Amino acid sequence: MSNTFTMNWLADALRAAGLEVWELDGWRTWEPGYAWRETPGGLYEPEGHIVHHTATDGYTPNVHNSSGQTKANAYVGLRREGRLYFSGGGVPTVALCASRPANDSAGYGCRYVLEDYVRLDKRYSGPQSNPDDSPSWAGNRSYWNTETIHPGYGEPLDAGVWDLLIGYSAVLCMELGWAPWRTIAHEDHTKRKVDPRFEQGTPYTIAQIQDDVELWMEGKTVDLQRWASRLRREDINQYVKIGVLTSTESSYWIGMLGDWQNPEWQDLRDAAMVRGPIYGYPGQQ
Ligand SMILES: [Zn+2]
Repeated sequence: MSNTFTMNWLADALRAAGLEVWELDGWRTWEPGYAWRETPGGLYEPEGHIVHHTATDGYTPNVHNSSGQTKANAYVGLRREGRLYFSGGGVPTVALCASRPANDSAGYGCRYVLEDYVRLDKRYSGPQSNPDDSPSWAGNRSYWNTETIHPGYGEPLDAGVWDLLIGYSAVLCMELGWAPWRTIAHEDHTKRKVDPRFEQGTPYTIAQIQDDVELWMEGKTVDLQRWASRLRREDINQYVKIGVLTSTESSYWIGMLGDWQNPEWQDLRDAAMVRGPIYGYPGQQ
């Protein structure tokens, strides 16, 4: 069984949510040398999402820069042809740059935010005031990183880009079974940074982002087939134990797991080894 996790499904999931996606050539296959760090579940995948600002008015997203490095997994901004902008019109767009970890995005920071908050679906109230871990611990292999095209001095983010960023973050959370709190600020990860800093929610912008992501996710039903494909038997038992699922419902899901013994379901079984509790089912205690 492969334990390599791919984010290649993200483009379709974003389009299904009605969001504009720009897939850069090679974003699915570019391999900068990093893999996702192993999770406590024995898997290799991102465990959270860090939002940044670029501190620029425009940016041309790329899969890798001239040094062969990946700067971020994705960029959001107003697209005008081959470039993303902060203002001046254009189509609010998510540019997908790398399905694997970026070399240089989250950078060094505090591991406890991941271990004590993000991974546990607990909300972290930053910004960070503690020094980075020593010896250094870089978050690039644990976090999906998104750069927002924005100067970073508290200007309002274009309303269309704001909505895009919220919907995009919500899709990440729902598809990966995360609570909204898994989207954090770069300034939560490390006190070296202040981003993102938009007028919305200033000075601690990420709190407003998280609130809006939660609103976006409310009332959205999780695709049951997809949920089943990621569910583990121990999750089901846990949900019954804490009263989230009734025994009838659990029988249904256990039945679904049984179906997966069919060889045709191999891919789904592999995926099903992955998931912790899914948003909407507050199983994580
Ligand atoms: Zn940043």
